[in-house]
Amino acid sequence: MKSATLTDALERDAADPLRALRSRFALPRTRSGEPSIYLGGHSLGPMPLAARDEVCAALEDWEQLAVLGHEHARRPWITYHDALAGPTAELLGAQAEEIAIMNSLSVNLQLMLASFYRPAGGRRCILIEAGAFPSDRYAAATHLQWHGVDPGEALIELSPRPGEDCVREEDLESLLGARGEQIALVLWPGVQYLTGQSFDLARIARAAHGAGAIVGFDLAHSAGNMPYPLRELDADFAVWCSYKYLNAGPGATGGCFVHRRHQLSDRPRLAGWWGHELATRFQMPQAFRAARGAAGFQLSNQSVLGAAPLIASLALFREAGVQRLREKSIALTDFFAQLLEARLPEVRVITPHSIAARGAQLSLRIGADPGRARRIFRWLNAQGAICDWREPDIIRASAAPLYNAYADVFHFVMRLEEALRTV
Ligand SMILES: *Cc1c(COP(=O)(O)O)cnc(C)c1O
Repeated sequence: MKSATLTDALERDAADPLRALRSRFALPRTRSGEPSIYLGGHSLGPMPLAARDEVCAALEDWEQLAVLGHEHARRPWITYHDALAGPTAELLGAQAEEIAIMNSLSVNLQLMLASFYRPAGGRRCILIEAGAFPSDRYAAATHLQWHGVDPGEALIELSPRPGEDCVREEDLESLLGARGEQIALVLWPGVQYLTGQSFDLARIARAAHGAGAIVGFDLAHSAGNMPYPLRELDADFAVWCSYKYLNAGPGATGGCFVHRRHQLSDRPRLAGWWGHELATRFQMPQAFRAARGAAGFQLSNQSVLGAAPLIASLALFREAGVQRLREKSIALTDFFAQLLEARLPEVRVITPHSIAARGAQLSLRIGADPGRARRIFRWLNAQGAICDWREPDIIRASAAPLYNAYADVFHFVMRLEEALRTV
């Protein structure tokens, strides 16, 4: 196959209806002041320029109003959550009442498992993917222990078939068919952090519910990346962070979805005052009465400074439009994968080839020597081609449609080609 040229990349950029959004982000520079090639948004999104205004507005309100800011800030802090939940619900295709913007991903996952993992009789197992992100595995294993269940027996980890890198949905269905009555809860990633595989979550939810299990999704690598409407996935709950594709800054407040069928349930939960229904919250009642929906799972008052950049970022997603972003994402990642294939046969993309089974991230394996692959990764970052490394031997790179250009992808592949020659 003939490989694309810089001219091809620049032509695509000129025809890209979303190209102007790039200028609304601060993209990092190298130590010598050159613009970096930023393909690290799956790990930490760059700063939307408008984030500064949102944070400064919150600081000014605090400066000028102190405690009165709860009611009189430009966005009053008591109801600050509304400015976050509404636009997030729109982006993720849920109802605002199904969304809570709170805590961090790992905390939200712990809270959701506290409410939704209810082992009973022979149904005690939690099913996750083998090689899950550590937090997810720790959360599942520690909840089993919390209930006196041995993770060695009850944590089921589904692996890819021998010789394959990715898990097949049909294998998950077979497992649920065979051991379904033992499984209390399925915790599954939308996009797997290491391989970049994107799953058919609606299919997984159907299989889990068919087996009588609860299903929760970890959307850390999906929120802001994949456009699936949450309402069509039928998960019982979902959690995500806001600093990856959602570009809300390091450690930004995370998110949580609770399906509306659980909206009024008296499901056990670990409660805090902010989850109490708003109308009577400040009467300081002794008995907890949950607010409707996901808001009833909040513990604490809103971290305004931790969430302010998310408001700026969500406005950019709304401006771009979810479908247009996905269209560009598909074309951009396709361009990336084809360029790698045409120019660098030494590089193996382990992320699935099928468009439906991947988002913005490509996971690359280089040669058989992980030591050299790691040196190549270090060389790339030192040269301003920003990607990341995940043990044991994976380089992850993603072209995010909000701010990446086809030229970024082209230059990244050229740097990688140079790295393969020189390292
Ligand atoms: C990024 C990520 C996390 C990070 O958890 P935090 O609580 O935000 O630090 C957890 N799980 C997965 C799958 C992730 O990709």
